[in-house]
Order: sequence, then C-alpha cells, then structure tokens
Amino acid sequence: MTFLLSVSVLAAVYVAMYGLERLPGLRFRPLPFRRRYFTTDVAWYGVAVAITAVSVFVLQPVISKLAIEPIARNVAAMPTVARVLLAFLLFDLISYTVHRALHRYDALWSFHKVHHSTLQLDGLAQTRAHMCENMLRFVPGQIVMFLIGIPIAEVAPVLAFAAIYGVFDHSNLGINFRWAEALFVTPRLHRRHHVPSSSHQNFGPVLTIWDRMLGTFVSLDTAADEQFGVPGEVDTYPQRFDKAVRRPMLDVRQAVRNRRAPRPLEPSG
Ligand SMILES: [Zn+2]
Ligand SMILES: [Zn+2]
Repeated sequence: MTFLLSVSVLAAVYVAMYGLERLPGLRFRPLPFRRRYFTTDVAWYGVAVAITAVSVFVLQPVISKLAIEPIARNVAAMPTVARVLLAFLLFDLISYTVHRALHRYDALWSFHKVHHSTLQLDGLAQTRAHMCENMLRFVPGQIVMFLIGIPIAEVAPVLAFAAIYGVFDHSNLGINFRWAEALFVTPRLHRRHHVPSSSHQNFGPVLTIWDRMLGTFVSLDTAADEQFGVPGEVDTYPQRFDKAVRRPMLDVRQAVRNRRAPRPLEPSG
C-alpha cells in the first residue's frame, strides 16, 4: 500500500513538474511539450519502478533485519526528528560517494553514461538511469541505514524524498534558488554536472556540503544554448531505450577486450 502511494505521489510530482518547467516565467530554456525521447524516458521510469518494487518486496524484508547492537539501541533512543535527519545525512553522503565512484571506475561509468546521455534536462530526465545504477544508488545507503537501526517506516520517507528531490534537481526550472545553495543542490548546480566539461563536479544529490568539503563544488551558470550529454559521445551515444539498455555491457566487454589485446611493440632504439 505504501509502495503504491509512493509511486502515485512520485508520478504526480513528475506530471506537475513537466508542466511547470515549461512555463515561460519559470523555465530555464524553452522546451517543447512534445518532448523528444519521451518514450525512452518513460521506459526508464518503468525500469525504476520495477527496481523499487524489488527493493521494497524482496530486499528490504531481508536487510531491515541487519541492525547491529549496541548502535541500533542508541539510535532507537534518539528523538524521531534527529534519527530521520541522521538517516538522511548518511543516505545523502553515500549517494554522493556512489556517484563519484560511478564516474571514477570505467566499468561503473559505462552504466552511468546512460544517465548522462540525456540531451535536454527536465524532471523526467532523472529517470534515465540503468537498472544496475539504480541498485548501486539505492541499496548501499539502505543497508547502512538498516545496520544502524533506522526502522523501515523512517527509511521509506528518506528514499521517497531523495527520489522527489531528483525530479527538482534535473528540472528545467530557471527560478533563482541561489539563496539555498549554501546547503542545497539546485537545478542550476546539477545542470553543471550534465555539461560535459564540468561533469566531474557537483556530484551531490541533495546537499552541497559534500561537494564543498571534498573540493568538487562548482558554482557556474549554464548558458541557455550549452549542450548536455556524455563527454566525448554527445552525438553518438544511443538515445533509444532498446539500444541504451544493452550499451553498458557492450562497453564493458569492449574495455575488457582492449585490455587483453596485445600491446604494439615499442620501437627499438
Ligand atoms: Zn554523474
Ligand atoms: Zn543527473
């Protein structure tokens, strides 16, 4: 029931944002209502819902029993607000760390390229993520929250908030939210992460503090005509779902093959 409610609320957020971010007074750049690759991202949305269902009905019943003592006892004694805040901070830090790893390691980057392949940012673009990336982004954070004894009833709203915040992060809203950037990621900041030249900055999902502390923060405006996309593959990375869903495995296989190929002999002398 909670799962259906969360999926319905998230779907309503997507629909509302889809309209708002296209309004002349609110938008960053003009985007058509009949958006390109709409079916691609709706298909990725379906994948995300399926992965969430696996997480809720298969994974959570197992990992929610992982609480370790005496940490869990101390966490249970905390006031609810402090406990939820702790859960949120941990989850956000782990998401930041996973996101950096997705960029750092070739095999993980092969999967994360799917997310970066979007050519126009809007709320729906946040759903464009390979199922392996979805698992990596949501499972480690949940395991840590359950290990320290956060109950499911408090883990679920943290996950739902992160998903809803992602819609805002990726939106085409051009409203000035700079007043919030000391603490929070805004569409202006996440936009920089999708510009190929600055894709190694602004990894934070909700909070800017991790980027600020670890030297990956950048505060730059993006020009209205600046391009988004996979660095070096803006024009070539597949946009269709059926091709993109298979692409990461092909990239990984190619990378392994390249590594195994005999190196050309060094010229002597
Ligand atoms: Zn990224
Ligand atoms: Zn993104």
